[in-house]
This record gives sequence, structure tokens and C-alpha cells, in this order.
Amino acid sequence: MALNYYSDWETHTWSCECGWNGAGGDAWTELHDALVQVDCPECGSRLFLVDLPTPDQVRAAAAVGNEEAQKELGPLRQAEERWAHIDAQPGFDPSVLPDAVDGRIELELTTVSEADGGHKETWMALFHDSRELYRELAQYETLSPLRRLLPAFRERYGDAEISLHTTYSAFIYLLGDRTSMIDDYGSLLKQYDIEDIKAAP
Ligand SMILES: [Zn+2]
Repeated sequence: MALNYYSDWETHTWSCECGWNGAGGDAWTELHDALVQVDCPECGSRLFLVDLPTPDQVRAAAAVGNEEAQKELGPLRQAEERWAHIDAQPGFDPSVLPDAVDGRIELELTTVSEADGGHKETWMALFHDSRELYRELAQYETLSPLRRLLPAFRERYGDAEISLHTTYSAFIYLLGDRTSMIDDYGSLLKQYDIEDIKAAP
């Protein structure tokens, strides 16, 4: 059972079996997907887990005067706006894909970063022969772009040989910190019989 992020875990005094006593804020913390793991700074034993706050919890805590939550409101709004943009993007139109030549097509997936308004924005972009065919706002740490694009490639090219060159920057963006997704990445390409060409860093 994990603790609420906005409870008093940072100031509360905890004790470990090894004899350490101290405030949660002085312990070791390790960030996971939706949790903070808090370990004893002496022996490394796990003390407790804390749930990272949901957007609703951030807003609720900010509303009752939590300063840390109030500082999160700006970034939270930005993130939600970006998600709304991502959701509102037109889907991938397979008609942008060029014809295969001699039963073969090579596509490249890479990231493109450019200034957009006042800030730098990153897109996941599809190229063929140095020509950009399609781009969408990049989503960190998810294979969802591949889950949408690969079936469309296979449908467009039928039995043709398809190879996908995923550049290092795109690969790192898709996987994020979840290196466990490397296997999922490989299986996805295999599922659609697409040759996997990953660039070295
Ligand atoms: Zn300990």
C-alpha cells in the first residue's frame, strides 16, 4: 500500500530494522513509473512506497495551499495542452507512402526538433529517401506510434519487403527509460514482418 504523495512522509520519522531513524525526506528515493520507492540510507532496505500524484491530486493539493503542488500547476497545464494537441492530430494517411521499387521499400523513423512558438518541440517523423512524409508530436516512452504506423505500412505494401531504419534519437525517444520495451519493439517489427534497422549511437 503506497502513501499519498501529499501526506507527511517527508517529515514523518521512520525507523529501519538496521537501527536507522530519520525523516522520509532524508532517506534514499528512487523514481519508478508511478511510484517513489523510499529506501533506508544506511542499509538500502525498502522503507515504503509513495504514489506519484495524479493530475487531480496535484490540483486538489494546490487548492488547499500546498506550495509544491502549486508549482506543478504550470507544467501540468502545459503537459495537458500538449496531450490535447497529440490527441487532436490527424491520423496517419497511408497515401503519403511512395510506391515500393522492385518489391522493396526502405523507410526511416527519426525525431525532428524545431522551435514552435516560444519553445522547442520534438516530432517523430517518417522519411523516405531524405524526404519527410509525415510527422506527429513525439510521445516519450511509448511504442504507440509504431503500433499505428506498422500495420498501415504492411497494408500499403502487401507482400513487399519493408525495412524500417529507426534512428538512435527516435529509438531512445520511443523507449525512454523503459529498456524493457526493447523486446516489445522487436516483436512489433517481427509481427508485421518489417526488417529492423537500428542505428548505432
Ligand atoms: Zn536500514
